[in-house]
Amino acid sequence: MLFIKFSCVAAYDANVIESSLLPLYPWQLVHDGQEFLADYPVTFSYLIAHQNPPPQGKRKVKQIKVLVILSTASDKQYKSIESKQTVINQGLKKTSQEGRACLLSWYQETEKPTIKRLRAYLTERDEPLDIIHFDGHGFFKRKCPNPECPKRDTDRVFYSLNTQKCQFCGSVLEEPQGFLFFDRDSPGIDYRSGAEFARLVGQSKPMLVVITACKSALAYKSDSVFNGVAQKLLRQVPAVVATPFSISEESATNFVEQFYRALGAKKSLLEAVKLAGDAMRHHKYEWYRPVIFLRPDTDEDGNLFEWEVTSVELPPEVTPKDLSQINKNELLDILKRMIPPQFNQLLFKLDVPQYLMPSSDNPQTERAIALLSWAEAPGGCGLQKIKQALDELLK
Ligand SMILES: [Zn+2]
Repeated sequence: MLFIKFSCVAAYDANVIESSLLPLYPWQLVHDGQEFLADYPVTFSYLIAHQNPPPQGKRKVKQIKVLVILSTASDKQYKSIESKQTVINQGLKKTSQEGRACLLSWYQETEKPTIKRLRAYLTERDEPLDIIHFDGHGFFKRKCPNPECPKRDTDRVFYSLNTQKCQFCGSVLEEPQGFLFFDRDSPGIDYRSGAEFARLVGQSKPMLVVITACKSALAYKSDSVFNGVAQKLLRQVPAVVATPFSISEESATNFVEQFYRALGAKKSLLEAVKLAGDAMRHHKYEWYRPVIFLRPDTDEDGNLFEWEVTSVELPPEVTPKDLSQINKNELLDILKRMIPPQFNQLLFKLDVPQYLMPSSDNPQTERAIALLSWAEAPGGCGLQKIKQALDELLK
C-alpha cells in the first residue's frame, strides 16, 4: 500500500495560518480529473511535529484496553446521539473473544459519565490505557474568559469566530478553540477545552485517541493550526483519529464498527481508517471525513501495537508444581495475569456462581479479587481448590 503524507511544520508562520484555510482542506478529496486519489490504494494522514519529547514507539500488548467516553450531553442544536458502545463491542467482538481486547467500564450504569468521574478513574488506574474513544458533541468557538461574567457556566459565553467581545460583560474573547461536551450530574453541558481534555487523557498514556464528535478536529482563523482538539491531543498521544467536519450518525456508526474490527485484526491505523472509510461509502461525500493525525516520530503506517502471544505468564520462581505452596498474594498475582478465556475456564471448573463474578469487560484484577473473596467466604471453594484447578489448567 502506498501512503501519501501531507506534513505541516510546527514552526508554520502564524500570519499565514491567520488567513489560510490550509488545515481545513480535505486533502482526501484530491482528484486526478477522473477519480479520487483515495480510490487507489492511497491513504492520507496529517503529521504534526510538536516540539515536546515524542511519545514512545510501538507498544507491546497482549490485550488492548479500550476506554469509551460516551457523552450524551447536547442541547437543542445538537440532537442526542446513539451510544457507540454497542457498535464498538460489535467491532471488537472476535478480538475480545480471543482475549486480545477489553472494553473497560469506568462508571456505574446509574451514574453519568462526568469528567470528574473520568478524572478519578484515570488517576486511580495504575496501568496505561491503549485506546480512548470520545463519542459525543463538540464545537469550535471563542469563549468569554471573565470568571465573573453574568453568563459564566452557560453556553452564552461561547461566540462565533468573528465576534470579538462578550456581549454581557464586554471582555475580549479568547482565541477560538475546540471544546468537547461532557455530561454533568445537574442539567446542562460541561464544556471542556481540547487542551484540558488532552492533559487529562494524556496521563494514562494512550497510544490512540479516537474522537467521533462534530468539529473535533477543526482548526480555523486563529494564531495556530494546533488548536483543534485532535491537534492538541497530539502533544500527549502518538495518534489521533478525529472528524474535522460534521458527520452523520449512520456514517459514524459504520465507520466505528469497521474501524475496530480492522484494528482488532492487527491492521495498521492507516489501513483501519481506509477500510472503515470504505464502509461508509454509501453515504456520499462523508467517507473522507475521519482524519488521521500522527506524530512524525510514530510508525509511518500507524502500526501502534506489537502483539504478544497471549498466554499466562507465571512469575519465574513459581512453577506449576509449586502452586500448592504459594500464599494468597502470589495466587492473586497469577490470577491477575490470566487472559479472560483462561480465567473463564477456571471459573467454570470451580463452579463459581456466575452472578457473583464481574463480567470479562472488567479489569482482570477486579475479577481475580472477586474470585478469591468468593473462595474464602462461607460456601466458597477455598484457596486450595483454586490452586488445584490452576495446576490442572496450566499443565
Ligand atoms: Zn462575558
